Amino acid sequence: MIVGVHPLAGFDKLLHYRVPEPLRATVEVGSLVRVPVHARFHLGIVGEMGAPKDFPVEKLKALSEVVYPFPALAPDLLALARWMAGYYAAPMDAIIETMIPSAVRRGMGLKQEKLLSIGRRLEGEELSGLVRKAPQQARLYTFLSRQLKPQPKGLVLRRLGIAAASAAALVRQGIVSEESRRVERVAYSDDWSRGELVTAQPHDLNPEQAAAVGGLKGALAAHKFSTWLLHGITGSGKTEVYLHAMDAALKAGGGAIFLVPEVALTPQAVARLRSRLEAIAPGHRCVVWHSHLSEGERLDAWLALVTGEARVVVGARSAIFAPVRDLRLVIVDEEHEPAYKQDEAPRYHGRDVAVMRSKLAGALCVLGSATPSLESFANATSGKYRLAELTQRVDGRRLPSIEIVDMRVEAMRQKGLATLSRRLVEAIRDRCERREQTILFINRRGYSSSPLCTKCGHVESCPHCSIALTYHRSDETLRCHLCGQERPAPLRCPKCGAPDIRWRGLGTQRVEEAVHRLVPKARVARLDSDTMGRKNRFREILGEFRLGRIDVLVGTQMIAKGLDFPNVTLVGLVDADLSMHIADFRANERTFQLLVQVAGRAGRGDRAGEVVVQTFTPQAAPIQFSRKADYAGFAASELEPRRSFRYPPYRHIIHHLFRGPNPEKLKFFSEQWAKRAAEVLGDRVELKGPSPAPIEKIKDQYRWQLWYFTPSVTAVIGELAKLRAEFAWPDDVTQVLDVDPVNLV
Ligand SMILES: [Zn+2]
Ligand SMILES: [Zn+2]
Repeated sequence: MIVGVHPLAGFDKLLHYRVPEPLRATVEVGSLVRVPVHARFHLGIVGEMGAPKDFPVEKLKALSEVVYPFPALAPDLLALARWMAGYYAAPMDAIIETMIPSAVRRGMGLKQEKLLSIGRRLEGEELSGLVRKAPQQARLYTFLSRQLKPQPKGLVLRRLGIAAASAAALVRQGIVSEESRRVERVAYSDDWSRGELVTAQPHDLNPEQAAAVGGLKGALAAHKFSTWLLHGITGSGKTEVYLHAMDAALKAGGGAIFLVPEVALTPQAVARLRSRLEAIAPGHRCVVWHSHLSEGERLDAWLALVTGEARVVVGARSAIFAPVRDLRLVIVDEEHEPAYKQDEAPRYHGRDVAVMRSKLAGALCVLGSATPSLESFANATSGKYRLAELTQRVDGRRLPSIEIVDMRVEAMRQKGLATLSRRLVEAIRDRCERREQTILFINRRGYSSSPLCTKCGHVESCPHCSIALTYHRSDETLRCHLCGQERPAPLRCPKCGAPDIRWRGLGTQRVEEAVHRLVPKARVARLDSDTMGRKNRFREILGEFRLGRIDVLVGTQMIAKGLDFPNVTLVGLVDADLSMHIADFRANERTFQLLVQVAGRAGRGDRAGEVVVQTFTPQAAPIQFSRKADYAGFAASELEPRRSFRYPPYRHIIHHLFRGPNPEKLKFFSEQWAKRAAEVLGDRVELKGPSPAPIEKIKDQYRWQLWYFTPSVTAVIGELAKLRAEFAWPDDVTQVLDVDPVNLV
């Protein structure tokens, strides 16, 4: 018997081994095994049974161990791993390591508990004989015969004062039976025991929700792959629809995966979801899966799913690899979130992998959002995905109003650049009087700065790529990060001639100071990457804010998500331009999403909410459409330039980053490579660059980049990867391929 094994830890290939006789019964495709590679032993996953024809079988080494008596990677996950290796040009071992928790890979010991129960009932003479001859054994027998459930061995023997040998004698005779059970650690158990408020009552479905649930149930009943986009405005009750679909999947005997962006995975959100799920589908345990689990917790979660004890998993990105058996349903909530993209190897997109896993498992995939990504929306309108819409809020309340403040006018009136407009200051004062709370956002993405005229709102953009140009301080130039075009940075606005060109956005600290100065009574706190670094401080601030000890919270967009503060009735977006005019073709989409999501947060309690947006470009599409929460209008306006410049969803993008300590050498090799790639791939790709990356140097490593635009990743990626492996790279140049990147800066 021969098997092909994917060894882990740095081997991107399939190696073949002989299987010794005693191990044959337990080896199958997906088994976690230990094999000799060179002079050492490594873990690996069995990828195939048998060997290619004419394989020199005699020389094969023998497999040395089978770690678990069941496959660690189910066939659908193995197929998914192979798809990912191809599509993302990522090594197979890295993907398998992402799929199987490290504790599992190390074959970490399982915490076992032994249980005793009655194996055979004793009657008359046999029973009295036992009582006479072996009083200890009789005592144990009598105790167990009165129990309804198996009893923990250690505890019982200690309590009754019975020797282990006596118990063993009974087990040998079959009078008592002994079994092992895993002892489980439940993630978030501390939050349960603290009795945190988990009030999640089932609601009646409104007609739109009922229609959506009906559609999803029909798809589940068909028991074959399809993808649905659930487009529902904020507060329209998408979660309720998900829960009904999960109930149907469970009742059909299947399993389900529920993905949420990592940022939304707060203990409260998980607890709420769990309790609702357990109410709607009693008896089903729901496993939690995210990056903050301890190794033991992760192992337990994994085992509970592999053994079928649990059939539902709720988690962040990596939960898409959870070994759910008989997978029928995959839900991706907030599917537009960039957090689904992993930005370290393997660089996969959780949403896209979710669709592929559903396809391989023959499951239903539901992508949900109030502001779907344009990729998913395009798939829904082209008929590739089915579309379900929720246009009504469940509480019947209107969305909070969004008020736009034109900062050009403000600059004129206040005679100089203002951080906070008079309108916003007034609104903050008003909230302080009423003991309500305010959140001020600064949407800082990346570091890049594009020049913006504070007089007319003009932003310089690349004529070839329609993205904002970025200012490079080192040589005073404006550059396009896609095509590399550059020009000297202007001193005056090219449109209106004003000298008021602004290069840098505001920091959270400056906003905090402005609030202090203008609303001295307000108690202000700041949450940004500084405070994020210190975990306790972050929690502390949120805790104080929840308790009402802080009036105004200033922070970056990280506080926009997953947090529910019913007393917040004012949300201010201090600098909408920072997110709109950056060198990324998705800048408008992100800004629209942020505005709509932020507006959905304001006034969730019984008070009306208000949103104030400060901008130098009030006429910009994301601002105008978000004001009316007009997703369709926004999508139509945004898809037009995407089509003419052939950006996603009309083509795929692959990003290639080159790094090295020597800038000239790096430039030379990235240019040589680009030539080579263009020669071989021909018109299957359009190349943009190479050009210096937006961050030109990190830790003494210079960075250059190249973009490939292609209608089909699969048509080029194999060749690109092969070509890359063959190319004569110097030792000090490293590179990274990123397929379907979500951030261009
Ligand atoms: Zn101007
Ligand atoms: Zn360009």
